[in-house]
Amino acid sequence: MKKPTVSFEYFPPKNETIEKALWEAVPVLAGLDPQFMTVTYGAGGSTRDGTLATIKKMQATGIPIAAHLTFINSTQQDLKALTDEWWENGIHHIVALRGDMPDGLQWPLDCDGDYFQYTSDFVEALKSWHDFEISVGCYPEKHPDASCLNSDIEALKKKCTAGADRAITQFFFDNECFYTFRDKCDAAGITTPICPGLLPIHDFGKMCSFAAKCEAQIPDWLHEKFAGLDDKPEDALKLATDLLTEQVRDLAANGVDHIHFYTMNKSDITSQACEAIGYRCKAA
Ligand code: FAD
Repeated sequence: MKKPTVSFEYFPPKNETIEKALWEAVPVLAGLDPQFMTVTYGAGGSTRDGTLATIKKMQATGIPIAAHLTFINSTQQDLKALTDEWWENGIHHIVALRGDMPDGLQWPLDCDGDYFQYTSDFVEALKSWHDFEISVGCYPEKHPDASCLNSDIEALKKKCTAGADRAITQFFFDNECFYTFRDKCDAAGITTPICPGLLPIHDFGKMCSFAAKCEAQIPDWLHEKFAGLDDKPEDALKLATDLLTEQVRDLAANGVDHIHFYTMNKSDITSQACEAIGYRCKAA
């Protein structure tokens, strides 16, 4: 079994508690020698300063850091200026996204040319502005706005043709769903690597609310496993670690080359799952 490369995603801290957790997690996960780490971008630019500040501090680890960037609600000129600044700051990898549609807005957003309409146009522009490495999102269970999975895969193909270097999936808990999606992308002629994005379950209740928003399926067996563990945090943590470990081992055994982790700014579950496929933490 070839050990898959890994990447870790964080979000800019909103308060001191999250900030403390983030800077405890980063050295532990950076010590696993990931291929890259990423920092999310709040919809509509709400974390514009926080994303850059977090990345600048994280660059001290020596691991390449990617910035997420959503184009919705930002003019093309603003995005160009922002990415010029990021390029100057050594950010050479962008996770290029549309962002969620704000309430009350309909697609297409405008037709006067100031705004990007599609992520594929955004990817093409980013590639023309600087020689960015580009990751994009993809959805094994279909993006909520897509009419069907096939049309969503066609949209993904456009992002890949526009220059994406990899596609990272929305989280999922049933690996079969990922393998089916990967086969469908293959059949559609997509040659860009499709990388699973995995979510460690730090809080089952919160995860369920989040999954409902992005229409990610939570299998019945997962509900059954977490039933009765609300007041047993140690048991819930052990279960979440076992589940992620099992998921990672199965993906590695099925030839997956790269795994992305939505770390939620915490290291424990993610680092143990990585150790199960051969990662060892280097001293920070
Ligand atoms: P898109 O590829 O733009 O697709 C959105 C919808 O448009 C789909 O229904 C698709 O089928 C359709 N579509 C796309 N292109 C075309 C086309 N050419 N023609 C017709 N239909 C088309 N959100 C944040 O706010 N901040 C983050 O940091 C963030 N990070 C994320 C990281 C990952 C790995 C993932 C998977 C998601 C992330 N998100 C983030 C959420 C993301 O912004 C939302 O899911 C958003 O609604 C879709 O963005 P997208 O670029 O992935 O989708």
